[in-house]
Amino acid sequence: MVKIFDVAVVGAGFGGLAAAAMLSKEGKSVAVFEASNELGGSAGKFERDGYRFQSGATLGMGFESGGVFSNLYQKLDLQPPPMKLLSPIMDIHLPDRTIHYYRERQKWYEEIARKFPGDPSRIQAFYDEVFRVGAMVDQLVHQLPVFPPKKFKDWVNLLPLVKPGSLPLAPYLGQTIYDRLKKYGLHENRLFITFLNGELMDSVQTNVTRCPAFLGYAALQTFHKGAYAVRGGLAVIAEQLAHYCKRAGNDVFMRHPIYQVSEDHGIYQLQSKRDQTFAAKQVLLNNSVHNFHDTVDKSLASKSMINRQKEAERDAWGAYIIHAGVREEVFAETDVLYHQFIDPEYPDDLHEGGQFLLSLSDPEDRQMAPEGMRSLTISTHTNAMQWWNTAHYAERKEAMKHRLLRTVDHYFPGFSEQLDFVLPGTPITFHKWLRRSFGKVGGYIPDGRFSWAKSYSIRTGLDGVFQCGDTIFPGAGTLGVTLSGLMAAKEMSK
Ligand SMILES: Cc1cc2nc3c(=O)[nH]c(=O)nc-3n(C[C@H](O)[C@H](O)[C@H](O)COP(=O)(O)OP(=O)(O)OC[C@H]3O[C@@H](n4cnc5c(N)ncnc54)[C@H](O)[C@@H]3O)c2cc1C
Repeated sequence: MVKIFDVAVVGAGFGGLAAAAMLSKEGKSVAVFEASNELGGSAGKFERDGYRFQSGATLGMGFESGGVFSNLYQKLDLQPPPMKLLSPIMDIHLPDRTIHYYRERQKWYEEIARKFPGDPSRIQAFYDEVFRVGAMVDQLVHQLPVFPPKKFKDWVNLLPLVKPGSLPLAPYLGQTIYDRLKKYGLHENRLFITFLNGELMDSVQTNVTRCPAFLGYAALQTFHKGAYAVRGGLAVIAEQLAHYCKRAGNDVFMRHPIYQVSEDHGIYQLQSKRDQTFAAKQVLLNNSVHNFHDTVDKSLASKSMINRQKEAERDAWGAYIIHAGVREEVFAETDVLYHQFIDPEYPDDLHEGGQFLLSLSDPEDRQMAPEGMRSLTISTHTNAMQWWNTAHYAERKEAMKHRLLRTVDHYFPGFSEQLDFVLPGTPITFHKWLRRSFGKVGGYIPDGRFSWAKSYSIRTGLDGVFQCGDTIFPGAGTLGVTLSGLMAAKEMSK
């Protein structure tokens, strides 16, 4: 007799694992299928020569009181891993100044006065709005509504959330960050816009002119609620969630790619390697909407509400990444673990190295690097499709590596000479690691004030097949994908 699981989860990213853990808590029989031999997907890790490298995500968030992970860990009765609360969250390097991005509001406002001397009071007023509106968005999203609503019951479930307290949010649903900057007379402040573009690119994948105001505000205030360097890297969180599922008697199958999902008499069949087939009453796809049509069979695809062509036409970034070991001496002068570099010559076009993040392991975190060394990750947004033109692949990969390392050398002289080894990766690497179509990561790029309305929700249009992850509202980042995982778990457990 083939076992029929209540729920099969395709992909052990943060979205899939958060959902699997919550469903396990509710007593469901759950099977998680992960294609690779690592948990956590783009927030996972790999190990090489005594180093532990974070495969993509490095900055932990949501562990402050009331935060997404604090709440989840409390519900699961789990102890969060040791972590360091960051302030400054990061140093932002521009050729003529380094901005210390402080977590605490007052310290951040003092830094604004020092580093943006032209307009400090207007910028502070803008940030007052960021904190006010961001808190309202949090309140709504933390209640895990199905959004955008797809069924009548989704609309009905949204109604109780529309309280007098959340009505002031309405104006921000139809404006971009740039519209709000105009209100504050900041739309011509190139320095502040360059800074904001850097922060929005890192969190919402876009710039001030294309970013819906409420999404941008929610992302900007999140940094100040608490950013953390998690000991052992973010993959530790994925390991804890997977462990929770197993302790509840459930299965996490590693190196089990799901090649196809089909339906037979109301039961979903998941085909994996060596002709193994698993059966489940419900399926949660955590392997991105980009891969939807390659995962479900033609019959299911034709009944779903995901249009293959329209999906493929939506813009999404890829990532260029460098993993390396570096001697401790290079960063001996600073305690700051995260460094963002912004090239102000291209303030609106912060990809292909125009903006990038360098994350260093904590020198005290001995899981990450051998004695005297630190492990690092550098990442920038890139147009994923260009890397599939193989004609100049190797030269392009090398050129990008030099561009990024040269920029760091400028601020930390001798940096590139102190590297132990350097492993660059492109969207082709991400495609191999995560099986993402064309190596696209980070969800869809918002393209204007109402772009949120075009988001995919957790519903696929197929009864019993749900989706979560960075291509699903509220979008990318370990917090966003965990929320979509929890939204899906809530619906699936009904
Ligand atoms: C370079 C980079 C830096 C980032 N930095 C940060 C950061 O500092 N902080 C932050 O919060 N977020 C960051 N993010 C974003 C964050 O990592 C992602 O939004 C999030 O981890 C995506 O999670 P997900 O649930 O969508 O799953 P994914 O991470 O996409 O994982 C999906 C999993 O599914 C598996 N899979 C795919 N196909 C199949 C299949 N057919 N069968 C079985 N398994 C399959 C994959 O192997 C993968 O493990 C970063 C992302 C990148 C790329």
